[in-house]
Amino acid sequence: MSDEKLELSAPDRPRVRLAPSPTGPLHIGTARTALFNYLFARQSRGTFVLRIEDTDHERSKKKWEKDILKYLAWLGLDWDEGPDKGGSFAPYRQSERVDIYTPYIKQLLDQGQAYYCFCTKDELAAQKEYQASIGEPPRYIGRCRNIDPKEAQARLKRGESAVIRLKVSSDKVISFQDQICGQTDFNSSELGDFIIAKNLKEPLYNLAVVVDDYLMKITHVIRGADHISNTPKQILIAEALGLPQPQYAHLPLVLSPNRRKLSKREEVVAVSDYYQQGYLPQALVNFMILLGWNEGTDREIYSMDELVEKFSLDKVQRSGGIFDLKRLNWMNGYYIRQESLPVLTQMCIPYLIKSGHLEEIPNGSKKYRIKETKEIVSLGYLGKVIGLYQERLKVLSEIPELVDYFFKKEVKYQPTLLIWKDKDKKEIKNALNRAIKALSGLKRDWTLEKINEALLGAADEIGDRGTLLWPVRAALTGKENSASPFDVAYVLGPEKTIRRLERAAKLL
Ligand code: GLU
Repeated sequence: MSDEKLELSAPDRPRVRLAPSPTGPLHIGTARTALFNYLFARQSRGTFVLRIEDTDHERSKKKWEKDILKYLAWLGLDWDEGPDKGGSFAPYRQSERVDIYTPYIKQLLDQGQAYYCFCTKDELAAQKEYQASIGEPPRYIGRCRNIDPKEAQARLKRGESAVIRLKVSSDKVISFQDQICGQTDFNSSELGDFIIAKNLKEPLYNLAVVVDDYLMKITHVIRGADHISNTPKQILIAEALGLPQPQYAHLPLVLSPNRRKLSKREEVVAVSDYYQQGYLPQALVNFMILLGWNEGTDREIYSMDELVEKFSLDKVQRSGGIFDLKRLNWMNGYYIRQESLPVLTQMCIPYLIKSGHLEEIPNGSKKYRIKETKEIVSLGYLGKVIGLYQERLKVLSEIPELVDYFFKKEVKYQPTLLIWKDKDKKEIKNALNRAIKALSGLKRDWTLEKINEALLGAADEIGDRGTLLWPVRAALTGKENSASPFDVAYVLGPEKTIRRLERAAKLL
């Protein structure tokens, strides 16, 4: 096939977009919408466009745009065209497109399909109040609809403030075939004459979206179901402008466990917070897709490549997915276990530094310093420490607390922690002394195997393994739960191990 033919066939492929408003950090719901768009685009070898919808000047902030781009990239949801990448339909920031919308707004005014409305806030509030009192939904009833355009111009010149509304004929059924929700109908009477622009240079969301989707040749609008009520408005605008409609697919919302909308107060919603807590992007992607898509099997683990292969819009459920943190934690644990130990170690080091356990040694050395003891430790040693918890770690930020006893001179605990079941102090002290004796002989032969042998041998002499293994573990870690006494002793090394056991024996 010649290059020219390839070029020609490309526009037939789907073009989808994510159109976030940079009014806050990347929200988990937006990230999920991005994922569905991404998979759809990649599977159909289409194009994924990122468009920043920053028409709300007051609430839109550059820092949020940066956050959105950064965390979409972190999740591996890379886009083909966007504000940072450019593309044939640039610019991809609505604030840089204001002049583009003006002719479309003018067209609607000139065709008599839109008009200037001079109603004041007070008048609109009174209208809303009246509608509520008779049990009607709030909508504009068209008071300024028949103002002669010439008179409207004169009033504008006199400095009267106005907005631009679309003329919506009443009692018209607006239907569309949603790829997820099926046939969806709205009655135009519910909409009233809604506002499409503040003025010729300030379009509102619904108008800007229609124009941009058209100009950017978007074929499928895949977005959250919270936008479904905007769809009839966008269809009316497109019809008035004589523009084709894209296909719509509205994704069911993610719901909190109490079946309400996710709330910032009850759930973590910013992707940056998940990043900081130590969730892996693979886990979040895997978790997000199952909030709304199901292959029809019980399978829970999918890589991005498998999702690209298997995803289809017709397997998207109609009802909202429930946000289940336990499931996310389970998945994150799964992906943590899949990492190689050196990679996991590198992932955990920032958390150990942040918590004050470790510090970097300047000049690019691959070693680190334990802050409290000033000991220098290698990556290999840190790997051994972290390896003890790879199986049970759920989120990376748990690591500092789990392994703190490797980074302290002494561990602090109540002496009662050393007591196993109904044993008394004397029995425990005796067990600790036996452990010390057994381990002291190993100093030059400090292997996991020998430690096992020594401790189990001593424990068996007492007759009850718990009486020895419990206080040994507690003395080494200061914790109720931790890795096994053998592993901990091995990684701590002979000196610290014996010192901690001697100290424990003295405490009793
Ligand atoms: N800008 C809208 C939002 O952030 C999305 C618009 C759309 O997808 O049509 O919710």
